[in-house]
Amino acid sequence: MLDIQAIRADFPILTQTVNGKPLVYFDNAATSQKPKVVIDAISNYYNTINANIHRGVHTLSQLATDAYEISRQKIQKHINAKHSFEVLFTSGTTHGINLVASGFGQFIKAGDEIMISAIEHHSNIVPWQMLCERTGANLVVIPMNDKGELIIEEFEKLLSERTKLVSVNHISNALGTINPIKHIIDKAHAVGAAIFIDGAQAAPHLAIDVQALDCDFYAFSGHKMCGPTGTGILYGKEEWLNKLPPYQGGGEMIKEVTFAKTTYADLPHKFEAGTPNIAGGIVLGTAVDYLNSIGLDNIQAYEHELLEYGTQKLLEIEGLTIVGTSAHKTSVISFNLDGIHPYDVGTIVDKMGIAVRTGHHCTQPIMDAFCIPGTIRASFAFYNTKEEIDALVTAVLKAQRMLG
Ligand code: PMP
Repeated sequence: MLDIQAIRADFPILTQTVNGKPLVYFDNAATSQKPKVVIDAISNYYNTINANIHRGVHTLSQLATDAYEISRQKIQKHINAKHSFEVLFTSGTTHGINLVASGFGQFIKAGDEIMISAIEHHSNIVPWQMLCERTGANLVVIPMNDKGELIIEEFEKLLSERTKLVSVNHISNALGTINPIKHIIDKAHAVGAAIFIDGAQAAPHLAIDVQALDCDFYAFSGHKMCGPTGTGILYGKEEWLNKLPPYQGGGEMIKEVTFAKTTYADLPHKFEAGTPNIAGGIVLGTAVDYLNSIGLDNIQAYEHELLEYGTQKLLEIEGLTIVGTSAHKTSVISFNLDGIHPYDVGTIVDKMGIAVRTGHHCTQPIMDAFCIPGTIRASFAFYNTKEEIDALVTAVLKAQRMLG
């Protein structure tokens, strides 16, 4: 059993009032709040060891380099990557997807297929569309059913020797659906396709084992898992990272530069041009330590309780429909009230101190498929409580009375 009150005390922001009411933060799928250890670690870095990394012989540079590389190893262990050089620091999931999509063109020819799914975030759609435009490849979309689940039989039918890469999310940010990614990975490999998993919504909630999954790439964002903004990880299998060309050219990513020719650095530096977000990378390790001190299994179990409680309580409201009703969901509830625009509900509940997300959640094709302009999305983290869910229900009822 988690001591939620003790956990809440780790998050300074949660003691705030917003619009005169205690803050209820239910926008965790957009970004998580940060515990004090993470906030303190940022100022500790700048107060004590700030220096550029991988270049200086001076003590501070070595201390900063060590801290950065120790963080990489921590994250390697956390996701069970085989080598630390398979763990690339990025600015977030979007960066990781673009890094692979930009270099993947050399494995693609006109008529080949890149497969994504109907429930992707825009950042797992647009970079692949751009790749298709550059190469003449076709974008193929795995359809979903009316619960917001991928139709796996259709996926299997769509796979062929033309499929060169499959990229799907582990968990949908708009619907909360947890995809059967192990099955998807195995099927993609069976036709010789590479497989990319967008783990932005999974890393904050589940233990991830990239070797057990056997995925080729797995990307996630630090800011959604108690870490700083502007941080993220791209895991790539050694053989793929060696085959892919560098993403950006510049300092740090080279072995030797002459005007005639440049040779590139070994992994992971080949993909880490320029001065990185040093403080962010180090402190992402602090965030991982923090999550592990609570335990991702404990987090998952408690958040599931919140999901069940919230689903039951919200469904008691007449005229409320939940969008995304898979039995395999993380702690995201997307919903609508009959005849009321999601934005209006979001504005009223904000007046009561409750932060929810309204709109299309960067998943316009999902909204189009459900023929809705958007949803109201409450996404729970392990520091949320059932009492906060009760406050949301009260606020939604009030919004319905005012707007209905
Ligand atoms: N994929 C999914 C499923 C997401 O939820 C998000 C963030 N909302 C992203 C990708 C993009 O993440 P970031 O903005 O941190 O790069």
